[in-house]
Amino acid sequence: MTYYSLNKQAPDVSFQEAVVKGLAPDKGLYFPNEINALPQHFFDNIENLDNNTIAFEAIAPFVGNEIPEQDLKQIVKEVLSFDFPVEKVEDNISALELYHGPTMAFKDVGARFMARCLGYFNKDKANQENVTVLVATSGDTGGAVASGFLGVEGVDVVILYPSGKVSDIQEKQLTTLGQNIVALEVDGTFDDCQAMVKTAFLDEAYKGKRTLTSANSINIARWLPQMFYFFFAYKALKSNGKKLVFSVPSGNYGNICAGMMAQRLGLPVHHFVTATNANNIVPEYLETGNYHTKQSVQTISNAMDVGDPSNFIRIQELHDNDISALRQNLSGYSYSDVETTKAIHHLYESANYIADPHGAIGYLALKAYLKDNTDVHGVFLETAHPIKFLPVMPKSISDNIPMPRQIEAVLHKEKQSIKMSNYEQLKTYLLS
Ligand SMILES: *Cc1c(COP(=O)(O)O)cnc(C)c1O
Repeated sequence: MTYYSLNKQAPDVSFQEAVVKGLAPDKGLYFPNEINALPQHFFDNIENLDNNTIAFEAIAPFVGNEIPEQDLKQIVKEVLSFDFPVEKVEDNISALELYHGPTMAFKDVGARFMARCLGYFNKDKANQENVTVLVATSGDTGGAVASGFLGVEGVDVVILYPSGKVSDIQEKQLTTLGQNIVALEVDGTFDDCQAMVKTAFLDEAYKGKRTLTSANSINIARWLPQMFYFFFAYKALKSNGKKLVFSVPSGNYGNICAGMMAQRLGLPVHHFVTATNANNIVPEYLETGNYHTKQSVQTISNAMDVGDPSNFIRIQELHDNDISALRQNLSGYSYSDVETTKAIHHLYESANYIADPHGAIGYLALKAYLKDNTDVHGVFLETAHPIKFLPVMPKSISDNIPMPRQIEAVLHKEKQSIKMSNYEQLKTYLLS
């Protein structure tokens, strides 16, 4: 498989090159040159396939022969070493829980897959210069990347996070691991962190000194494996015979875009719903036709506090850059913090379900869509465990959340971070 840059000013590359580079030299995101639907019998027979087989079949065409079948199967197996339960919430609504992995967010899947691919490509180059994964996080990416890459040989990880704007648990998850993981605590917002990372990728100063790559969802090895659990949800719900709608809490739009890629592989998805907070760039675009990026606003669903969603361009490519085609396949809704908290209470009281703020927004958007669209089954993605958002969860509910062992394990470790406030300081650090 080869990949092209969406800016169309850079040469096509292999899977390996796209994974190692992250972003194309023309600053474009990479996109596969070919997307072929899986055979019909795959879907007819999916209930008889295990998750590892389903995931392997979905990802194999995108990797091509660059990782041998047995190695890719082993990678998939290691990535998927936890459950993806589909929980019934209402008669026609289920939650797809993506938080049973090591850092309790869906990003574990993409981060673990990417780490293992990079590890595979680096395995014969022990004496060459290390690859440095440089990543900005608004909360969950950092922990998932830190955990996914911990101990991977030949890879250093540098994580930038906005000081005081991630939860204590999230901060512990990315600042306590040590080894090949370094956390930089930035005096600024997520957008500032993201801007520093982008500047570094464009700076020629690292040539021959450090190979920089990204582990944000712009990287195809983080983005594409997120297709897996859309297939798993279909498998779990296939027997009810209803058309399937996914509501995806969205920030950088990598997760929902992976769902759309699964749809292109033939997965029968009737419609997508994007659910977001006050950072409503995409719902506004769907409504008005005007795409305006903005400064991000801080909310209680902070993993979606993104003012310039990086993967939206891939979604447009998947819909031939045609807004009417996109509107056919995607609806968008945004909610305030007050509405989010109300939904958390409602889910707890009416369905005994504890949702995190992102999942609660997914639920609200799904409800809005279902109002005019009956006779479908809706699935909202529960993208992180509510324990990760303790400070913003209603106390009467958070008191009833048992502490998961993955979280307990990091709470007592000591935070280690390097404080930073601008790009020059980052550059000095990376060149030292
Ligand atoms: C990252 C994240 C999101 C947003 O996912 P995108 O792929 O960036 O759209 C939503 N919820 C949680 C909990 C996250 O960590």
